[in-house]
Amino acid sequence: MFSVENYDKILIMYNSKLDKRIQIERLNTLINNLPSSLFTTTLASVFIFFVLYSHEASIGAIIWISSILTLTYLRLIHFIKLKHLKKKTRLKEEKIILLGIFLSGLLFGSSVLFIFPTESIALQALMFFIMSSMIAGSVALYSSHIFVFVLYSAPIFLSYLLRAYFMPEYSVSLMIIGIVYYAVMLSTIFRVNHSIINSLQTQYLNKDLVNNLSFAKEELEKSNQELLDENSVRKDTEERLYNLANFDPLTGLANRHLFKENLHSSLKNAQENSSKVALLFLDLDNFKIINDTLGHAMGDKLLIAASRRLESLLNKNCSISRLGGDEFVIIMNMVEEIETIKKLAKKIISMLEAPFNLNEHEMFIGTSIGISLYPTDSTQMDILLSYADTAMYTAKDKGKNNYQFFTSKMYEKILFRHDIETKLHHAIQNNELRLEYQPKIDISTQTVIGAEALLRWEQTDLGYISPSVFIPIAEESSLINELGKWVINKVSKDIAQLQQDFKNKLCVSINISSSQILHQNLPKLIQENLEKNSIDAAALELEFTENMLIKQSRKSLHVLNALREMGIKLSIDDFGTGYSSLNYLKTLPIHTLKIDKSFICDTPACEGDCAIAKSIISLAHNLNLDVVAEGVETPEQLKFLKENGCSKIQGFYFSKPLDINAFAAYLNAPASKIEQALFN
Ligand code: C2E
Ligand code: CA
Ligand code: CA
Repeated sequence: MFSVENYDKILIMYNSKLDKRIQIERLNTLINNLPSSLFTTTLASVFIFFVLYSHEASIGAIIWISSILTLTYLRLIHFIKLKHLKKKTRLKEEKIILLGIFLSGLLFGSSVLFIFPTESIALQALMFFIMSSMIAGSVALYSSHIFVFVLYSAPIFLSYLLRAYFMPEYSVSLMIIGIVYYAVMLSTIFRVNHSIINSLQTQYLNKDLVNNLSFAKEELEKSNQELLDENSVRKDTEERLYNLANFDPLTGLANRHLFKENLHSSLKNAQENSSKVALLFLDLDNFKIINDTLGHAMGDKLLIAASRRLESLLNKNCSISRLGGDEFVIIMNMVEEIETIKKLAKKIISMLEAPFNLNEHEMFIGTSIGISLYPTDSTQMDILLSYADTAMYTAKDKGKNNYQFFTSKMYEKILFRHDIETKLHHAIQNNELRLEYQPKIDISTQTVIGAEALLRWEQTDLGYISPSVFIPIAEESSLINELGKWVINKVSKDIAQLQQDFKNKLCVSINISSSQILHQNLPKLIQENLEKNSIDAAALELEFTENMLIKQSRKSLHVLNALREMGIKLSIDDFGTGYSSLNYLKTLPIHTLKIDKSFICDTPACEGDCAIAKSIISLAHNLNLDVVAEGVETPEQLKFLKENGCSKIQGFYFSKPLDINAFAAYLNAPASKIEQALFN
């Protein structure tokens, strides 16, 4: 990545590099100038030799010219070698080049000794002239290298200065002229050199600047690309997070969170425009049965298909959300007439009534719809939703597959439920709870085999409240766990007392709610009570409804197995009203099926009920299970059951639920009805 630190590093590297590069560049200029230098050297020396040799032939002159030519020849060879070297490695040869130049200067300077004319003033002047020209020429040749210039020119200058000193005439003026001349040459070369170095530096600086700029540009482009990539990744993540937070992954509909936001803005708009908003709360009928029997995968497909149908019905004024499970809410904006809402509700019902064909299964569901209105019913989001929910429950109560608008009566029901819930919280502390025991009789042995414990609540202000009223409320608020614990404690104590008093082998059954299987450690709770009261596990039976066993199959199966291993009997209550498959029933570790009273009450008159009761009895026999009939009120019902092989009976015919004392008395002196049953 491009950064300030990197840039600094580049600068430092640049500065250390600069000298070396200039050094190389200067050397290359020197080398490039070598041919002209060698050429002028040869030309000048040959000229000098021929001009002077004709006048003053001497060995010295021959030595001088041969030395110069040899040196020039060697330097030429060296130059050829240099040409074949790489620019950077030439630096190693610099000393030899300098030596060549110095020797060349020295040889020219030595001309004063070997070839300087002694007689002719004109020739002497010519020599001075040639040497000063050589110095002037070297200013141009070595302008990039002051030191080389000095190496070359100093021997010439010094030897001729000395020669001037020995001149018979004009020696002082000649020396002064020479010094001034040399000083001018030096200052010239200083200036030229300075500007050459400067321009080289600027050239490199610019080059580096361009490089750095393009490097910076590349880095910038790279970081830009990275930023773009990062942005797109961030955008993707944000989008995914947004979808997760706002949409139901299964159906793609808005989830509860987005629904709340939508409702909030709908209500705000409605307030500003003085318009109405309707909230339609939908719950699919029979969805749970399909989900439990055909599996979750099929349930999911059904939910998706139902969602698509619902979506197809809505116009731009409506939005739909899935709140969870099989619950959907539709927000209808800009409602002008109630008729429009009714029309939509009817359309939804008929559309969802049509069969769904999924994986070759033809499935029928329906929908119950509860409707609340803004601002008529409430102006608050949560209240509107809970009113629509309440109205939906009323629709279910009214036989499903219909719609209901929220009414004040329902509101009273809510208040009532709320009141019950609050009061139920204090029921245990206020000692308002008690138990009743409804005897179970085996008509084949004419004995009381046990009882079903039934919870009773005598509320201080409201009086007696039926368990069919308060148990469902307790189940919804999870208060049921506390109540259930109280029942188990009390039943265990009562059994202990009954056993002490009657030494009777009784089995008392307790009703268990689904929440107790899920949230209470039932086996542990029961074990503790058995131990605390020193009672046998065989004295307890637990009643579960079939639907709750199916719903939490894994966990409940685990709990049921643990209970069975402890020796506790397990019974399926209200058998025949649920949806359990016979296959599933086989896998449950149960002992007893309890025929629901709704199948008993119309026997033997109602053929259908008789058939159901009979088949439950034979099913129980086939599965090697006990069978108990509850809600037996008449001798005819008793006769029918007896004839069809069901001997265990519970119902008003023998006894209503009794308090513990009355039950003890019943055990002591069985009603004449048991004896009567014998004769029939
Ligand atoms: P259930 O478990 O089906 O209990 C049998 C109900 O039938 C009892 O109603 C009982 O009084 C009633 N009954 C018994 N014999 C006859 C008869 O011959 N004719 C008619 N018409 N009814 C008869 P109850 O006591 O009102 O209880 C209602 C429901 O409340 C119970 O139905 C059970 O589901 C629930 N419940 C009662 N006590 C408890 C409890 O301690 N825990 C839980 N979780 N639920 C309880
Ligand atoms: Ca029961
Ligand atoms: Ca029952």
